[in-house]
Amino acid sequence: KVRRPCRVMILVNPHSGRGQALQLFTGHVQGMLTEASVPYTLVITEHQNHARELVRKADLSQWDALVIMSGDGLLFEVINGLMDREDWQEAIQTPLGILPGGSGNALAASGYKSWNEELLLSCGFILCKGLVGSLDLVSIHLASQQRLFSFLSLAWGFVADVDIESEKYRHVGAIRFLMGTLVRLASLRVYQGRLAYLPVMEADGKTIALVDSLLPGLDQPVPESWTVVKEEDFVLVLAIYQSHLAEDLWTVPGAMADDGLIHLFYVTAGISRPALLRLFLAMEKGAHLACGCPHLVYEKVKALRLEPTSPQGVITVDGEMVEYGRNHAPCPTVLHQAANL
Ligand code: ADP
Ligand code: MG
Repeated sequence: KVRRPCRVMILVNPHSGRGQALQLFTGHVQGMLTEASVPYTLVITEHQNHARELVRKADLSQWDALVIMSGDGLLFEVINGLMDREDWQEAIQTPLGILPGGSGNALAASGYKSWNEELLLSCGFILCKGLVGSLDLVSIHLASQQRLFSFLSLAWGFVADVDIESEKYRHVGAIRFLMGTLVRLASLRVYQGRLAYLPVMEADGKTIALVDSLLPGLDQPVPESWTVVKEEDFVLVLAIYQSHLAEDLWTVPGAMADDGLIHLFYVTAGISRPALLRLFLAMEKGAHLACGCPHLVYEKVKALRLEPTSPQGVITVDGEMVEYGRNHAPCPTVLHQAANL
């Protein structure tokens, strides 16, 4: 529990979602915080990476929590800004919070089975109560040696394409993913690449330190304990570590924010358009694994390596586009506290 009175920095991305994050804040959250006597400072981001730079340099002793009011993309900036710091081990312990103001509010929705009222009000309530839980972070190495930290997902193929292509429908809110799905289905394609992973064994305990040591160098073959997926033609690969991929996509009903697991899904080539659509529609109720679709595979893993061989494509981390190429993700690591869980 965060001690009170606490000082909260609230970062708002005015362009997230339908461009209404600031209005949603003043209309729904501001009054709650005042009633609960939570002092806060509002920071409106002016450009992409503004929050990342600010958090990288901030005097964190001044703040008891950093809260973002946006979609997952702004939290991705904040987490990577904290991890950029020399004192990252301490910095990442700063309680973080999320108030859904974007079009992709996966983390805010994760952890709820359902929310009766507005999701925003539930998250505002948790913020006022100062409830804190822990959250897994996954470290991802890109082919260029760049390393970044992810709290939500690594996606390639259909899911990544929909996420990026649907940004142009941002003004419609969360429905953008359904629209993007329908457009992408019409031009369904196959993505070539290699996928390997380290499966979770029954006896595995939870990892509690950053264990990049599980990873063979990207130039090395994967160890024998890894499973190499036979297929090399995919429709999508999705590694996710929260229960929701979006507000209305309940991708991993059993996932906990700090279960130390990467939930790996992939869909192999050959799936029909109606079958793929059925999977996404079933996902709203968390029922996609019960569809009996032979092209869908689900594994709990500790690490994975993805090597796309298609010359072009999109890879997203937490819904943000990253460099396309080989990359891999080791164990999720319980590193920090999130105020929204
Ligand atoms: P949404 O869910 O609507 O996509 P996000 O929080 O994911 O909302 O933000 C979308 C993108 O906007 C992210 O890449 C984020 O880094 C970027 N961003 C943050 N602040 C600003 C700003 N002031 N202007 C433009 N882009 C911003
Ligand atoms: Mg986003």
